[in-house]
Amino acid sequence: TYVIAQPCVDLKDKACVDECPVDCIYEGPRKMYINPDECVDCGACEPVCPVEAIYYEDAVPSEWAGYLTADREIFASL
Ligand code: SF4
Repeated sequence: TYVIAQPCVDLKDKACVDECPVDCIYEGPRKMYINPDECVDCGACEPVCPVEAIYYEDAVPSEWAGYLTADREIFASL
């Protein structure tokens, strides 16, 4: 899956939403969220993010690795 990290917080540009072919990017109170169960790893969202908030799961900068587990837990709990 791809994940949306800290640069999205309180910004929510949403350019990614229009690019996603499976509509798996959802709006939260403070940032956008990719549903890891629906993401097909196409990568279309990553380059359109103006603040480089989106990363493939293996490429998330270490300081933001927590977003991967946190976002997984959010969708797992729905
Ligand atoms: Fe959607 Fe593709 Fe981005 Fe996954 S990688 S969130 S499927 S645009």
